[in-house]
Amino acid sequence: MRGNFERLRGVFSISDDNPDLAIAQIDRFSRQIPLMYTMVVVNTLALAYDFMDQAPAWLSIYIPVFLVSISVLRTLSYWRAGKQEISGEVARKKLRQTIVLAGVLGSIFALWALALFGYGDVYSQGHVAFFSGVTSLGIMVCLMHLRIAAIVLGVTVIGPTSLFLIYAGSQEFLSVGLNLVIVAVAILYVLSNHSESFVDLISNQIALKKAAFEANELGKENERLANLDSLTDLPNRRRFLAELEERIVGAAEGNRSFAVGTLDLDGFKPINDIYGHVAGDNLLVKVGERLSQISSDLFVARLGGDEFGIIFEGELSDSELRALGNRICETVEEPFEFENFIANVGGTCGIAKYPEAGTTAKLLFEHSDYVLYVAKERQKGKAVLFSEQHQDEINETTGIMRELQKANLDEEFFVAYQFVVDSDTGLPVGAEALARWASPVLGNVPPTDFIKNAEKTGVVSKLTETLLRKTLSEVSKWPGNLFVSFNLSAHDIGSPQNILRLSEIVRRSGFPPERLTFEITETALLRDLGRANETLKLLKSLGSKVALDDFGTGYSSLSYVQNLPIDKLKIDRSFLANMEECPTSQAVIKTILDLCDNLDLDCIVEGVERQGQLEILRGIGNMKVQGYLFSKPLASGDALTYIQLLPSAEGQDIKRSARHS
Ligand code: C2E
Ligand code: CA
Ligand code: CA
Repeated sequence: MRGNFERLRGVFSISDDNPDLAIAQIDRFSRQIPLMYTMVVVNTLALAYDFMDQAPAWLSIYIPVFLVSISVLRTLSYWRAGKQEISGEVARKKLRQTIVLAGVLGSIFALWALALFGYGDVYSQGHVAFFSGVTSLGIMVCLMHLRIAAIVLGVTVIGPTSLFLIYAGSQEFLSVGLNLVIVAVAILYVLSNHSESFVDLISNQIALKKAAFEANELGKENERLANLDSLTDLPNRRRFLAELEERIVGAAEGNRSFAVGTLDLDGFKPINDIYGHVAGDNLLVKVGERLSQISSDLFVARLGGDEFGIIFEGELSDSELRALGNRICETVEEPFEFENFIANVGGTCGIAKYPEAGTTAKLLFEHSDYVLYVAKERQKGKAVLFSEQHQDEINETTGIMRELQKANLDEEFFVAYQFVVDSDTGLPVGAEALARWASPVLGNVPPTDFIKNAEKTGVVSKLTETLLRKTLSEVSKWPGNLFVSFNLSAHDIGSPQNILRLSEIVRRSGFPPERLTFEITETALLRDLGRANETLKLLKSLGSKVALDDFGTGYSSLSYVQNLPIDKLKIDRSFLANMEECPTSQAVIKTILDLCDNLDLDCIVEGVERQGQLEILRGIGNMKVQGYLFSKPLASGDALTYIQLLPSAEGQDIKRSARHS
């Protein structure tokens, strides 16, 4: 019983929990209702006209006018509803109104028509029956999207009209009345089925729309996250590169210029190491905030680690770009205050301008990165703009890399020897082997240029082997027992396999390994201290010595000297540059010499160029020295000739003879 009641309620009520259905129903109505009222108005006017002479004016004129007016107003109301977006609430209100009006207006129309019935002749009475039947059935069809309104109309109009006709007293009207009932029931049955499929259709459409909307929203959120750096909330590398591509297209079309910058923090790593990663992360967030506030013409992104990408909008001259870049570096230099510490970092910036520094995103970005590293080496804390000079450097490097890969190592590479002498006697105690490249294409290329490129291209291991073989075969011909120093690169000491191959070369050469020293720089050691320790031990197991080269240019940490198996220390020539005027340099050299004494290390002072330097060094004590004052690096044949002259040269001015050979 209760179930039936609920079902009945369901049929007669407008569901509150499906506003989208109500909106869809109003949408359909707004298209059908004008048609429906047009039909009603035409039929009403026709009937009223028919009764004009037969019925009183209030029935044939006033009431029809009133009914037509209401019809026009309702049409307008629906027409307006169809043109605007309406809420579910408004739609439901309108539907309830429609149901009530279907009953009320329907009854009034029916009563009016039936009231006319008594005034007409049999034809006009037939017109009334026709009007009531056809109009109400037509309306029912027009109300198909709101089943309940059709039912209300059936009950309030067709029911009473049929009864009226059935009891009107004529066989014909009885038939029309019964007919009307049968057709109305049939139409209601069809409408009922249609209404259910309409509800299903709308529900499906709504569900589909909702799913599409949700998928779209999810897609947008994923897109946002994929383009955002989760730590700083700045655009990430991906977004930065995409933005760069867009700007290039825009700038190319509009013949405009813009610039790309890469900013790298100086001194960030120690903050991370000392205060922890959380502090490091907080610092990056604050750096990001400061950068974003500098100017609205800057597009700032975090590229990863402590590197930020910047796009400079607008037509800025080179000097304006440099000034803005320097301002960015200065902004980062201001101390960052945290609860329990103050972080002091710096920033260095490389800038590449479109189109001068490149016309593709990749090239512009690479060039800004290139000048960033140039700036880090030569102008830390400043902004450097990519220029023609940088392009030349890149071309040169590319040229070197290309020729290195093609080079015949045996034919193109040579070894030069620079003697190491005793500071008191000026007599050679050893020699350093230095690589020389006579490229058939590039000419003489300095080792500082080709060694780093040989490391990048992977040629270095083969090159070291060739040079070591050449060195050992040449110095084996030298009389006496001078030591020979051979330079190793970071790559060489990076793997025990490399060292084992070099050991094999030493063994096969027959040169006494105890007269051989391998020179290694501090920076090479630092790449992987653990691995370096292992490989140095392998070299030592040969019986050879190990020297720490360029001491004083890197961290100069005494812990390496103590913990690694080192025999010699070479003081870098930068300490000698102004030693005549600088007592501090003298003191530092003396301290290092004392240290070597205490640790039982050999010490060699590099880069002695002037007699004045030598005098000061002699004042400190006896040591081994190397430099242009005694000998420039000599070609193999010259070095041999020089040594062969030595035994008989005792007491002669060796220094001068070496310098001028
Ligand atoms: P280094 O090991 O410090 O070599 C000493 C450099 O100082 C040599 O430059 C030498 O010519 C230069 N020099 C010597 N005396 C003086 C002086 O009085 N004044 C000045 N201003 N310079 C002086 P070079 O031959 O151009 O070599 C440069 C660097 O290239 C070397 O520095 C070394 O790091 C690297 N290198 C040279 N040959 C090799 C090699 O066979 N293998 C590796 N891995 N590196 C090498
Ligand atoms: Ca060296
Ligand atoms: Ca050196």
